[in-house]
Amino acid sequence: MRTVDVIIIGAGAAGMMCAIEAGKRGRKVVLLDHGSKLGRKILISGGGRCNFTNINAGPDNFVSENPHFCKSALARYTPQDFMALVKKHRIAFHEKKLGQLFCDGSAQQVVDMLAAECAEAGAEIRLSCRVRSVTRDARFLLDTTDGAFSCQSLVVATGGLSVPQTGATGFGYDLASQFGLAIITPRPALDGFTLTSSQLHQLAELAGVSIEAIVSTGGASFRENILFTHKGLSGPASLQASLYWSPGQPLTMNLLPELDAFQWLSERKAEGSKALLKNVLSDLLPRRFAEKFCDLYFKPAPLNSLSEHTLRQVAGKLNRWSITPAGTVGFWKAEVTRGGVDTRELSSKSMGCKKVPGLFFIGEVVDVTGWLGGYNFQWAWASGHAAGQHV
Ligand SMILES: Cc1cc2nc3c(=O)[nH]c(=O)nc-3n(C[C@H](O)[C@H](O)[C@H](O)COP(=O)(O)OP(=O)(O)OC[C@H]3O[C@@H](n4cnc5c(N)ncnc54)[C@H](O)[C@@H]3O)c2cc1C
Repeated sequence: MRTVDVIIIGAGAAGMMCAIEAGKRGRKVVLLDHGSKLGRKILISGGGRCNFTNINAGPDNFVSENPHFCKSALARYTPQDFMALVKKHRIAFHEKKLGQLFCDGSAQQVVDMLAAECAEAGAEIRLSCRVRSVTRDARFLLDTTDGAFSCQSLVVATGGLSVPQTGATGFGYDLASQFGLAIITPRPALDGFTLTSSQLHQLAELAGVSIEAIVSTGGASFRENILFTHKGLSGPASLQASLYWSPGQPLTMNLLPELDAFQWLSERKAEGSKALLKNVLSDLLPRRFAEKFCDLYFKPAPLNSLSEHTLRQVAGKLNRWSITPAGTVGFWKAEVTRGGVDTRELSSKSMGCKKVPGLFFIGEVVDVTGWLGGYNFQWAWASGHAAGQHV
């Protein structure tokens, strides 16, 4: 039996950050992962360039049943702290848009940086190591494929259920349940929407069309692109909206965020435009969309023949187009898992369980889920850092 101070299960973003911080404090740390590679989600993130943080990250960018929980950890480890680490390792990066920071080179640089920091802090990494069971006496006892371990602090950093081919498992939820902790039902998020077969019958031929829009649902609104696909709606605005959507809720889309559509159409009519509505709308929207939109909802007619009532109907659809999707795309495509270990079970300062001293949960396995755009890594770094000070 190996006896150490801290065992961290899951060598992803949160687990590595925790190992670094605990190791720096002189704790004897073992970081275990059942996969054969470190940080597999980091490697595929941001299209291979890792959107490693967002300079605007704050509590309002996260969804949780307990919205105040994330404040403390986020305040104690900020995007600037992670940028300082990236700069120390001379990794070049840039802001793509909306505060999103990406490596100029590859996501592998972030994994290499974290591995180097783990080595410097003296944290031992064991890959391809499967945990068969966890029991608790005065200490935690782990039966693993690398033998038996005993530790004072056990940190669960096994992430969520999204993209199973990266090694995602429900291990963290099962362990939480074993110790009697509540779980907020895990659901795929940042995955976009599927449409019903009748909606697809109408809209599937728009696959590939992209429109900048404001998408609103569940009390949140995002202004970015929506992308029509063969199965539904993707693009950043749809992914963001999927974090706030509940089954049966509509999505409302403002397809002309810069314009009062009624005023604009009335001005074109006053100019005496005899153009068909679909041609007028093609000045503002992709032609394929304008044609489909008019075919679906309005009879073909020259603009100057349309009544004020019809113009108001057209404008209403353009500024408030509402559809109720069939569902979201699912875990296979989701960037993140919403829900997880109920944060009311945890200390916001240490990430430790209130009723099981020595047991900690960090990263995506916890019910704190960020927007698209570097926020989820910032939560992984911040929660890993917080636990690293207390394990
Ligand atoms: C395609 C994709 C792109 C993304 N891009 C971004 C991005 O650019 N920016 C951003 O902020 N977020 C992004 N995310 C989200 C981000 O990757 C996650 O939120 C983040 O990795 C969570 O960190 P974590 O350490 O909690 O979990 P993970 O990084 O998922 O790490 C969990 C680790 O636990 C291990 N594990 C799981 N089960 C077990 C077990 N039973 N035993 C041992 N080990 C186990 C896994 O192998 C894994 O190494 C992306 C996600 C995906 C899927």
